[in-house]
Amino acid sequence: MKKDNIWKTYSDEQIKEIEALCTGYRKFLDAGKTERECVKEIIARAEEKGYKDITEIEKSGTLLKPGDKVYSVIMKKAVILFNIGELPLSGGMNILGAHIDSPRLDVKQNPLYEEDEFAYLDTHYYGGIKKYQWVALPLAIHGVIVKKSGEIIDVCIGEKEDEPVVFISDLLIHLSQKQLEKKGSLVVEGEDLNITIGNIPLAGEKKNAVKANILRIIGERMDIEEEDFLSAELEIVPAGKARECGLDRSMIMSYGQDDRVCAYTSLEAMLNIDTVKRTSVCILVDKEEIGSVGATGMRSRFFENAVARILNASGNYNDITLRMALQNSHMLSSDVSAAYDPIYASAFEKNNAAYMSRGMVFNKFTGARGKSGSNDANAEYIASLRRIMDDNNVRYQTAELGKVDLGGGGTIAYILALYGMEVIDCGVAVLNMHAPWEVTGKADIYETEKGYEAFLKYNL
Ligand code: MN
Ligand code: MN
Repeated sequence: MKKDNIWKTYSDEQIKEIEALCTGYRKFLDAGKTERECVKEIIARAEEKGYKDITEIEKSGTLLKPGDKVYSVIMKKAVILFNIGELPLSGGMNILGAHIDSPRLDVKQNPLYEEDEFAYLDTHYYGGIKKYQWVALPLAIHGVIVKKSGEIIDVCIGEKEDEPVVFISDLLIHLSQKQLEKKGSLVVEGEDLNITIGNIPLAGEKKNAVKANILRIIGERMDIEEEDFLSAELEIVPAGKARECGLDRSMIMSYGQDDRVCAYTSLEAMLNIDTVKRTSVCILVDKEEIGSVGATGMRSRFFENAVARILNASGNYNDITLRMALQNSHMLSSDVSAAYDPIYASAFEKNNAAYMSRGMVFNKFTGARGKSGSNDANAEYIASLRRIMDDNNVRYQTAELGKVDLGGGGTIAYILALYGMEVIDCGVAVLNMHAPWEVTGKADIYETEKGYEAFLKYNL
């Protein structure tokens, strides 16, 4: 049952493949730090490979046939790719699903204020974070501001060398005696996650002159006024690029690898495959980190609607075909796993932990304290996946997230399971999950991409 570090098994040729895949992955991470940016990048990559918007197919009235490749987007924040297979859709699809939202700080709707000659943006954090990790770091502002006219202004400040960054201040150690006696969750509190954005007063202004100066700058640069924050979605993320990590370059350190490491490997697998027997699907979805809510989260009907549209555009739509297409499907719900960390060994149960550089991770179940909230995959399904992985020489491991009573996590698996399809959680092990800078292993990324390709090609 023991798995080994897989690096020592690679040929020179495989090492080259790993480097090529991971170079592409770092570019993807740099191009997509928000769900909107990811969707843009995914569509551009898919269109290069011949994918077309389902809306265009519907307008043209041509019937979808095996080999056709289409995508469906919702509200610029989630996207589903379909590669139409030779077999009827009613027999089910092979589905990959991952999420493209990541923990971050969202700017509030009335965010801009001045205090003692500093201008600040007030935030509300998104997803689970250790708040104390987000102070004293260079931060960037990504997102959109939509004006009443409907004009959309894309914002990205702090990523280029010559652009300014912003930050949240922390109390100097010299005066922190009281702060450091607090428990971890209170060392930095949510209402103190305020982004420092300026300190120069506007000449001739008496009250809130620093804020006035900031408004002057953004007015000149982007032609917006303070009220336009009301219809903005601005996300504060760590500034800077994904980097190779470790003196042996075995790892990647970057913001947002939960769950873009699974999104990228799923997308790569999908785009690398040309013709398939069973229709293959790649769902890249928003809002997982806050419970898969909203129109662009997995609990929305847009996936079911997209499958209905595929059937309709194939000339086969009826309710029972749709239901059977969903129920007969097989899914890999791909999300990151907690990598075993020797420094925090007591949080893990060593025989059932995910280890970095031991390959793709399968989680039969997730959930917390008695598997609550989990999708629990069927033994029969796991057996067929073992066969697929072994037949294709994909290295994998099985794990659960930490010790039984310590906590747990959720994914999108249980939502797809509502259709009665076979679903299992799987993905890549991550160190410092949900921290501003997360770490993955290159070998695991490589094995996971191979595993996804093998899964999509299979007719279970
Ligand atoms: Mn995740
Ligand atoms: Mn997460």
